[in-house]
Amino acid sequence: MKSGYEGQLMILLVDDAPTNIQVLNETLKDDYRLFFATNGRDALRLVSESPPDLIILDVIMPDMDGYEVCRALKANAALQDIPIIFITAMRQQEDEVVGLELGAVDYITKPFNPAIVRLRVRNHIELKRQRDFLARLSNLDGLTGIPNRRALDAKLDREWRRCQRSGKPLSLLMADIDHFKSYNDTYGHLTGDDCLKEVGTTLQEALERPGDLLARYGGEEFVALLPETDAAGASRVAGRMLQAVNALGLPHAGARETGQVTVSIGVATVQPMRTGASTNLLLAADSALYQAKQQGRNRVTTWSQPAADA
Ligand SMILES: [Mg+2]
Repeated sequence: MKSGYEGQLMILLVDDAPTNIQVLNETLKDDYRLFFATNGRDALRLVSESPPDLIILDVIMPDMDGYEVCRALKANAALQDIPIIFITAMRQQEDEVVGLELGAVDYITKPFNPAIVRLRVRNHIELKRQRDFLARLSNLDGLTGIPNRRALDAKLDREWRRCQRSGKPLSLLMADIDHFKSYNDTYGHLTGDDCLKEVGTTLQEALERPGDLLARYGGEEFVALLPETDAAGASRVAGRMLQAVNALGLPHAGARETGQVTVSIGVATVQPMRTGASTNLLLAADSALYQAKQQGRNRVTTWSQPAADA
């Protein structure tokens, strides 16, 4: 099987013996983009510069052996999912156990059969592609295509702990489309879906930094997580979101105040403490959102209680 994507897939070959690299190169060069390293340090540098789709890694190398390279990669969250196949002349079963326990997906012993190497590489790359696809899919909201609540929860947990360590503030905005039930009743659910998509995209475009995340939290509710952002910065982003949705000018006959689609936004900022829980930040933004609704909608309200219990 040869298809377009395979030609773009990258494999890193790591072996201290150039002749071994040559043999693997001959075996795989028609199907993949290959690059090479003859020692562990070069391998780690190449992987962090441009992460490959798979690594074929010699075990016995001077200075830094394949096991060490594997350990270093598995300790790095950004690189630990790259499949590693160990390749070695050793035949002892215990060596295979060591390699697989370190997290390698497979083990090939020299001298190898090129046809089998090709098939194993293809299978592992296909499995990696499916894992990546499912991981992406399971973190996206099916309707709007923006990250879902699961993605938000995972990032909130990460950022909460990061801000605990760094002592930096963490902000969260909760935005809710005003009178959305009446919008669906008036225009029908298909138009309602279009409205959700358009508002979601608009809110997402209002974010400034690559570390910020907008997620669909449920129904007509969206949450933006802004790491290392203080209350003033969060209010500015919320204000821009409010304006951007107003600027869409989507008609909404059921919205008495404005005649168009608007959002209400609750803003909360905390300095995460060791004893607090990240869910408190969600609760704080939710109560600010409630106030924004009470005060007449189409506005930003900031949570103002002391953050001592956060
Ligand atoms: Mg070697």
